[in-house]
Amino acid sequence: MKTIISIFLTFLSMPECYSQYIDLTTIPKYDCEHKKENLFVSKGFTFVIPDVTDSILNERMEVYSSWYNDTIKIKKESELLRADYYKNLWIVGKISDFKNWKRFKLPIQKIDNGFIFRGAEYTNNLDGISYIDTNRIAYVGNDNMCLFGIREPSYSNGMDFTITQNLRKTIFGNYLNDSDSINVSDLRLLRENNYRFYPTKFMNFYVSKKIDSFNIDQIEHAQKSFCQDFCKFFNLAYPKEKIKAFFHSDQLEILMVSGYWDRCGGSIGGLSPKGEIHTKGTSTELISHEFGHKIFESNFGSSDDKVGYLSEGVIRYYFNSKNANQYYKDLEIAYKKIDGINYISRFDDYGRFDFGDDYPISGVFTKYIVDSYGIDKLNLYYSKFEFVKSTNLIFDKSFEEFINDYKEWLKKEYERKEE
Ligand SMILES: [Zn+2]
Repeated sequence: MKTIISIFLTFLSMPECYSQYIDLTTIPKYDCEHKKENLFVSKGFTFVIPDVTDSILNERMEVYSSWYNDTIKIKKESELLRADYYKNLWIVGKISDFKNWKRFKLPIQKIDNGFIFRGAEYTNNLDGISYIDTNRIAYVGNDNMCLFGIREPSYSNGMDFTITQNLRKTIFGNYLNDSDSINVSDLRLLRENNYRFYPTKFMNFYVSKKIDSFNIDQIEHAQKSFCQDFCKFFNLAYPKEKIKAFFHSDQLEILMVSGYWDRCGGSIGGLSPKGEIHTKGTSTELISHEFGHKIFESNFGSSDDKVGYLSEGVIRYYFNSKNANQYYKDLEIAYKKIDGINYISRFDDYGRFDFGDDYPISGVFTKYIVDSYGIDKLNLYYSKFEFVKSTNLIFDKSFEEFINDYKEWLKKEYERKEE
């Protein structure tokens, strides 16, 4: 007999408790140490994909493979030997494309138009699931597009299973010590129960029930003026879709409810997954910071595909333009580290960004681009994907020249400040 500690079932059967705050310490906990995954990986494993692939699956496999420096074998289902089924397998792809699904012995049942997990049917095109055990990992669903839902906004391997619907995490859970019982919850339900909803024409606001002093009209007004000013400043179009803005009261709320489960440790002020912004508290500048990311995203595509030097740089540059003191502080940091940064590593495919000094320096760097080339060139650069390569195209110089010019500019800018 399987026992289910199911928060949402409890609520469905007790409508009078509907709006009660769900205590986040009782919901499934994300394992920041990824113990199951580490054990799985330590024994060696093989990636398995169906014989039928498409460009999405191929591209995703390139990404997953790069996590392990391309040392892991990728086998098509038909290449699996009998002995392989006894080994650790990381199964990726569209469930219906696998011929012998049952042989993987996963608790995910293949049906004609989708799959069943723990008694529930998932038959929509974009339904997917990530599942992790010590000898199986599955990133699968009804379409290869589901793989994006599984990975975004963050890594899901710290939960035993996560259902994604419409490319968003919904139901998630962990097996308890006795592997027949589980702790499960639902992000949609947390959002419904723990937040007050304030729809407006401009934005949809969701405020944690733990926050009691706020003024939605004021917040809306402040963000409207920010949007106007920011779009004018960068010559950008207004965001196309209405943003959902979530205001959280503490670290656990922002991490769990935003779906950025893997941002363990540290203190997070704001996050911006697709179509949403999340902040701890209702500070105008914090909300505007995340909103600014959304405006750039709406104009030039996801910030996840951009390097932090640009995506954070534009925001810092904007706020510094209103705050000379802050700019001088940032300039000081950039000047001190002028030769201490591996600039190419900040602009290459992996786009490293340390959330300490890179924040201030990225804002100064953005000012260099604007001062030297103007806003339109900055935007054109921002719209690209391969930034090291693109410098030639946009600025008519190699990346090395681009950086040398930055250093020259920085020295002059610093001297000017000293005067
Ligand atoms: Zn940011």
